[in-house]
Amino acid sequence: MTTTIPRDKVFFAFGPHLRAIAEIEQGEEVLLQTHDCFEGQIQRPTDLVDSLDWSHVNPATGPLYIKGTKPGDVLRITLLDLEIGSQSSMVTIPGEGALGDLITEMETAILKREGDEVIFKDKIRVPTRPMIGVIGVAPADQEVPTGTPGAHGGNMDCTLITAGNRVYFTVGVEGAMFGAGDLHAAMGDGEIVVCGAETPGSVRFKAEVVDLPGLPTPFVETDDLVATIYSAPSVDEAVNGAIHRMARFLTDFARIPLNDAGMLMSLVGQLKFCQVVDPLKTVRFEFPKSVLAKYGFEMP
Ligand code: CA
Ligand code: CA
Repeated sequence: MTTTIPRDKVFFAFGPHLRAIAEIEQGEEVLLQTHDCFEGQIQRPTDLVDSLDWSHVNPATGPLYIKGTKPGDVLRITLLDLEIGSQSSMVTIPGEGALGDLITEMETAILKREGDEVIFKDKIRVPTRPMIGVIGVAPADQEVPTGTPGAHGGNMDCTLITAGNRVYFTVGVEGAMFGAGDLHAAMGDGEIVVCGAETPGSVRFKAEVVDLPGLPTPFVETDDLVATIYSAPSVDEAVNGAIHRMARFLTDFARIPLNDAGMLMSLVGQLKFCQVVDPLKTVRFEFPKSVLAKYGFEMP
């Protein structure tokens, strides 16, 4: 049986004083319905960003109280399935994003979906790669708008956060106060004009506490790799944070000697951008699980 959480209960900041809209059990299958990042305000090309009510941008559905979770626990969110809508939107916002210095005209593009493709301006067919932009838990000590990424997760815009993969967070408050939103039908690494193909959708997942105390979170696991994610005001800091967290994971959890860890990160690791616009920069460092296995380590 799956518990459905409708998209009508949303919040706009992860923080210590949230009130849960529902309680869920660990291991229970939950279907979380989500608005697009504009909460449905953009439906046609004539809906430009100057007509937006910005207080309704980047809604996350939730928060959900996950029973039996307490501060310091490592929470694993297993993403079972993602569904996306029949159309998605993209916008340009003068002055915003990595090309904000050049872009002077607002524009809205509506991308219809046909099967596993979205269609950009009737000519470019792009394979769908559904992903979750905003996902996280409440921090204990501060309020973070859902449009901002951080140690709690939030607006990380990481393309690895998709069906079949697992995302790990460190619980900040009792019940975790989990939420997600901002699905994309597709998005490139970097998120250059501050959007992917923005779509409503739903996320089917289960949440469980796992015995990995001190795991450097946010952390992602796919069938083939693990990744540390780090967000900071500058790309330099974000890169440094993601790299050092992976080194710590490899030495402290996988028990790989530091020099081996460094050389292997240099040999088979991949440093990648998630986004550079949100307003912090988010970077990830990917490392293959096959190498962890050679050192006798497996994710639980
Ligand atoms: Ca986003
Ligand atoms: Ca988005």
